[in-house]
Amino acid sequence: MRRMKKGELHLHTTYSDGHITAEDINNCGLDFIAITDHDTVEGFLSVKEQLTNGLELIPGIEFSTKHRGKGIHVLAYFFNYNNPEFLEELEYYRQKRVNRANKNFGILHELGYAVDYSKINKNGTIGKPNIADSIFALPENDELLVKNRINSVDDFIDLYLEKGKPAYVPVEKIPLEKIRHYCNGPLVLAHPAVDLDRGSDDWIIRDLRDKYDLRGLEVFTRRHNPEETAYYYGLARQLGLIPSRGSDAHHRERIGLYAADYSLVNELRKIKV
Ligand SMILES: [Zn+2]
Ligand SMILES: [Zn+2]
Repeated sequence: MRRMKKGELHLHTTYSDGHITAEDINNCGLDFIAITDHDTVEGFLSVKEQLTNGLELIPGIEFSTKHRGKGIHVLAYFFNYNNPEFLEELEYYRQKRVNRANKNFGILHELGYAVDYSKINKNGTIGKPNIADSIFALPENDELLVKNRINSVDDFIDLYLEKGKPAYVPVEKIPLEKIRHYCNGPLVLAHPAVDLDRGSDDWIIRDLRDKYDLRGLEVFTRRHNPEETAYYYGLARQLGLIPSRGSDAHHRERIGLYAADYSLVNELRKIKV
């Protein structure tokens, strides 16, 4: 009997807030990978040129967007990544994030931190983790970080960059109408338990299905605890959504933690809207 192919459907490279490189992907030992960087396909395009084995690279992206007042993450697969209009659109939103980073730095500088934009001078998408990383990368900040008891990038984000915190700056997000317009393959809601309230926000998922033809719910992910996994599995079944899988890997050690079978790929691939 042939072995069922296994792979990863949610992963971030150095082109967004991940640390995963083309080399890591070539060495991961899986049969397929969907690179789902935030709001960019640059990582996907770059890794595609550097593949050294028979691994299948699936077009993917994770959009940060909003629906009914809630910030959500939507995964898209099997879309046309060569469409110049789509790429231009992504570039527009990338530039918005560059502007936001500059504003963040202005505020952080006033708060006493050393800032150096060249520390995040990178391709792809600049998110909060990239900004926080760049602060940790400057030894001049060690003293202030210790004084403020900030031990990690996550601590830093919580203390300064989240909504309501001193260096928070909002950024324009790509609307769902545009996502749907450019991506005619399946849309899957990523890690619902992270962004939505269980129960009281379920109607938002139903609304996404009815208005934007959402087809999948990421159920099996390291971002969910067992209780959340069970709950959203039930909801996916109830709403007729595909219960999807993905590790949301940002480091190579996590690639394939929640590996998917190829049958899931086949199921997603056949969706055209
Ligand atoms: Zn996400
Ligand atoms: Zn992710």
